[in-house]
This record gives sequence, C-alpha cells and structure tokens, in this order.
Amino acid sequence: MNQPQSWEARAKEYSLYGFTDMPSVHQRGTVVVTHGEGPYIIDTNGRRYLDANSGLWNMVAGFDHRGLIEAAKAQYDRFPGYHSFFGRMSDQTVMLSEKLIEVSPFDTGRVFYTNSGSEANDTMVKILWFLHAAEGKPQRRKILTRWNGYHGVTAVSASMTGKPYNSVFGLPLPGFIHLTCPHYWRFGETGETEEQFVQRLAKELDETIQREGADTIAGLFAEPVMGAGGVIPPAKGYFQAIMPILKKHDIPMISDEVICGFGRTGNTWGCETYDYVPDAIISSKNLTAGFFPMGAVILSGPLSERVQNAIEAIEEFPHGFTASGHPVGCAIALKAIDVVMNEGLADNVRHLAPRFEAGLQRLAQKPNIGEYRGIGFMWALEAVKDKPTKTPFDSSLSVSERIANTCTDLGLICRPLGQSVVLCPPFILTEGQMDEMFEKLEKALDTVFAEVA
Ligand code: PLP
Repeated sequence: MNQPQSWEARAKEYSLYGFTDMPSVHQRGTVVVTHGEGPYIIDTNGRRYLDANSGLWNMVAGFDHRGLIEAAKAQYDRFPGYHSFFGRMSDQTVMLSEKLIEVSPFDTGRVFYTNSGSEANDTMVKILWFLHAAEGKPQRRKILTRWNGYHGVTAVSASMTGKPYNSVFGLPLPGFIHLTCPHYWRFGETGETEEQFVQRLAKELDETIQREGADTIAGLFAEPVMGAGGVIPPAKGYFQAIMPILKKHDIPMISDEVICGFGRTGNTWGCETYDYVPDAIISSKNLTAGFFPMGAVILSGPLSERVQNAIEAIEEFPHGFTASGHPVGCAIALKAIDVVMNEGLADNVRHLAPRFEAGLQRLAQKPNIGEYRGIGFMWALEAVKDKPTKTPFDSSLSVSERIANTCTDLGLICRPLGQSVVLCPPFILTEGQMDEMFEKLEKALDTVFAEVA
C-alpha cells in the first residue's frame, strides 16, 4: 500500500466522512485528534481546541477523566466482554439496569441495551410494534415525531428524524408522521401568543391522531429539548398540552433523552426539567460519558409489564445486539452516572447555567443575532440578516459554517446547525474556560458579520 504522507492525506485517502461538508474538508483540511485534556482536544499538530460541543454532546466529563478510565481498565481486567442472550448476562448489566430504574422517573421498569442512540430508538419502535401486535392490534405501526427532531441514522430512526436531508436515502419510510416543531420564535405566526401557538400544536396533534386513527399509531417520540435540530427548547407549556392528548388516545410517549439525559438540562432527565412523565426513556451518549458506545431503552413499570407479558406469550423476544449490555460499557455507565450525579458535574451545570445564559444574552445584542435559546449546558445563537423580521441570511453565505470555522481557527469547537451556532460544552467547564469560549466566539461573530452583513 502506497502510504500518503500526512495525517490529512491519509484521512482523506482511506476514510469516508459522515455528516461532513466535503468542500470544507478540501478547503480547510481535517482536524486529526490524538488526545484530550479536560474539555480540550489536541490535534496531530499539537493545536489545542476548547471543545464546546463535548465531542458530539457526549464527553460530558471531558476527554481524560481518570475515574472513568480506571473503571474501564478494571472491568477489562475482570471480564472484558459478554452478551445478554440465551438467559445469560454480566453482573455489571444486572447492576446497571437496577441503577437506571433507580435514577429514572419510574418506580419500577426494565431496560434493554443497544450500542447507540439510533439503535435504541429503532429498538423502541420494534418493541412497540411487537407489543401492539401481541395485544391484537398489529395495525398500530405509525410513529409520530416532529420536524427538526433528531432520532438517529438507522433506516427507522432516520425516518423518525425530521430533517429533509434524509430524502437522499428515499426516507422517511411510510408511516412516519412529522408534526410541527415547537419553536415559537421561528414558527409562531404573526400576532400569535406563545400560548396560542402551543394550543395550535396540540390541536394539530389531536387532529392528526383522529385523521390517522388512534388505532393505527404505535407511539410518539420527542426530545425534551431538540438538540441536533438546533437546540430548541419546547414552547412554554408544550408538553403539558400534548401529554393529555396522548393519554386520551392511549398512545405511548417516548422521551428521547440521548442528549438531555444525565444532566444536560441541569436535571437528571429532560422530562424532569419539563415536568412530564413518559412511558419510556431512550438514553445514550452521556450514559457512558462518551467513554463507550452504548444505548438503553428504559421502559416504565406499566409498559414493561405489558412487554414482558407479550414476551412470555411467545416465550422469546427475538431482538438484541452482540454487544447489548456489554460488561465494560455497563461498568463505565455505572461510573459515569456516579461521576455526573455525585462528583459535582450536574451541580456545575446548574451553577454555571445562569452565567452561560448571561454571556449569550450579551452576544444576542448584536444586530445579526436573532435569538439565543437553550437551558442548562445546551444553547444556540441564531444568526439573522435582519433582526426585526427574523430574515435569515442567504444560505449560500453559509454564515453559521463560517462562524464555526473561524472559531476552529481560534481554537474553539462549536457546531453550525442551520443558521445557528450550538454550544454544549462538557459539564466540567470552569468559569475561566467559559470566558475563553465567549471571548473566541465573539471574535468569530464579529469577523464573520463584518464580512457578510
Ligand atoms: N437521539 C438523539 C436525541 C440524538 O441527539 C442522537 C444523536 O445525536 C441520536 C438519537 C442517535 O444517537 P447515535 O448517534 O448514538 O446513534
């Protein structure tokens, strides 16, 4: 094999890039990362970047947390790998399931493990299809989600995702219905109050269920705060308006907490922050603080009883992954839950959230910032060409990408999403590091707005 010289060239020669704008790679190159220190990543050229995206929201304890590394090493020494098939599972798996139910909003329940958030959503859909069929309603297969919601990349979870880019795969599959995104600032109509907006969305949900037939709907999936849609907290009272409608029609509600779970919104769960109790929770990312690929479907007591009965009836649930409930992943998750909840990480999110908001509020005074939004340690700034009319910049200007690229040049990683720039740093961020983040971001905003405004 003819080895191209640089890391750069080697990356491009042998790797397919996912979710990457290729013209940018050709123009700007690839950041090849070798290691991390706290919330910083370091590349092959020795450059340091403050990663205000926590990797992909997941490295909440930073990139070198000793306790997590030691927990992984200890478990590799004890028992480095196993599955959860054929009536066998590791002791770590048993302990993690107990722990997840203990910290969940449910009194009782059961957990099923996957390798990722996408697979967890996919698994949840299969659980619902399986359950409804076992209960004599095989036609209950349609899935409700929202535009701008992100639920993953497998064929099913991508069908749930409310993003137009999935059309390149011929998705969504039939039977996946997307409702209006609960973003009042962007989708509220002229003269409509936030309360009226929420009522409109609740009515849309009720009418959709009646039009499709409640008996054809398997469940509704929603993120407490939409993450990859651009950090969109729900309009005020949204969940309080939709939950009774779902209850009325007996439609299971699944809270996709892949981003929000384990501290991101300042509480253990996003559903806690927004005061609703779902029928199931999807967890991943923060579950292992990003130190192991793992997802979990956490079923509430009543739902898990129904599912268990359905399984007993046919004697087996024909589903699972080779690495479901992997003992190293479970040991890391047990440690990660302890680190986030008991080592002050969730406290730090709560403590610094007001400072985070104040920093963004100040930046949002700029004439080309239309809105700042978020909660806890997940925030976005949305760029606009014209503030009073909320008119976006021409998409050909790639404003958010330019801001993110300028930030990268300054040693700060943030993520462009639509016309927004997203900040979701690790929970270990200090006040000084937050100041560094704002200083670099402001420089980037001023540079780019001077070019395009
Ligand atoms: N659900 C949500 C809310 C997510 O943000 C993501 C990933 O960002 C997923 C599901 C998919 O998780 P994964 O990338 O681990 O498949």
